[in-house]
Amino acid sequence: MVQVNYGGLRPDGVIDLSDVAGIDALTCGADGVSIGAGVTFARLADDPRSSLAGLAVAARAVASPQIRSVATVGGNIATASPAGDTHPVLAAAGAVVDLRSVDGVREVPYGEFFLGPGHSVLAPDEVVWRVRMPVSTDTSQHFSKIGTRNAMVISVASLGLVVDWRQRTVGVGLGSVGPRPLRAPAAEEFLATSLWPPSGDDVVPEPWAVAEFGRLVASAATPIDDVRGTADYRRHTVRVMAQRTLTWALQGRRKQETA
Ligand SMILES: Cc1cc2nc3c(=O)[nH]c(=O)nc-3n(C[C@H](O)[C@H](O)[C@H](O)COP(=O)(O)OP(=O)(O)OC[C@H]3O[C@@H](n4cnc5c(N)ncnc54)[C@H](O)[C@@H]3O)c2cc1C
Repeated sequence: MVQVNYGGLRPDGVIDLSDVAGIDALTCGADGVSIGAGVTFARLADDPRSSLAGLAVAARAVASPQIRSVATVGGNIATASPAGDTHPVLAAAGAVVDLRSVDGVREVPYGEFFLGPGHSVLAPDEVVWRVRMPVSTDTSQHFSKIGTRNAMVISVASLGLVVDWRQRTVGVGLGSVGPRPLRAPAAEEFLATSLWPPSGDDVVPEPWAVAEFGRLVASAATPIDDVRGTADYRRHTVRVMAQRTLTWALQGRRKQETA
């Protein structure tokens, strides 16, 4: 719509997908979460289920209530902007995008969907049908976004953290610090080994380990200087968001265990 309003796009026609049966289905089960492309941010923002906690926070950070009531997850993914607010959590959760055409459904791992800013592997005869997160029902999910103000703002940098306590996995997703959404594999591996050492009992990471996690996450970012912020500032914010979201995850876990 932005492109249309500014005269950058003059489409011959527009297809309304909102009445396609099943495109707005939203399910949470033992083997994960499935979010139809037609699910709006308003719906996600109000969903209290813990398996959607990270996306709910991300949804509340998108635009304004008016836009959230019509803007969809499918539109956010299809736009393929590195700043899209769904990407950090979906990337961190190891999501899979289902693309649908008359020939059937094609599964694309989240990291392989994006080719660069505004470009994806979506073919002209396909729609984004749904996105699935293979998370258990025992996860800590967090999202953090840095912008020039708190609302109606495109992110300068954003981060999603998903710790799956049952599957013993850690996922970190980064937005606006590369040409497409990124993961931070070295940081993920470091944190997983810190939380669940091979020697046995679960461990609470010490402050130096939280700091090292932040450093490793920042080193996965490949930002540029642009009008929204410098590359150095973006790396700094990513490190701070990584440490902050990990602290939230650990505090939440402690509360759960002592409840
Ligand atoms: C004022 C304003 C503020 C915004 N703020 C934010 C923000 O804070 N964070 C953020 O992430 N985004 C923001 N956006 C961008 C936008 O609203 C979101 O990306 C939204 O999710 C787009 O969804 P939509 O359903 O409105 O898609 P549309 O705008 O209708 O479509 C976007 C593109 O995706 C294609 N498309 C839509 N659905 C599908 C589908 N199912 N399959 C294939 N292609 C599809 C369309 O053809 C079009 O090319 C903002 C936009 C505006 C105008």
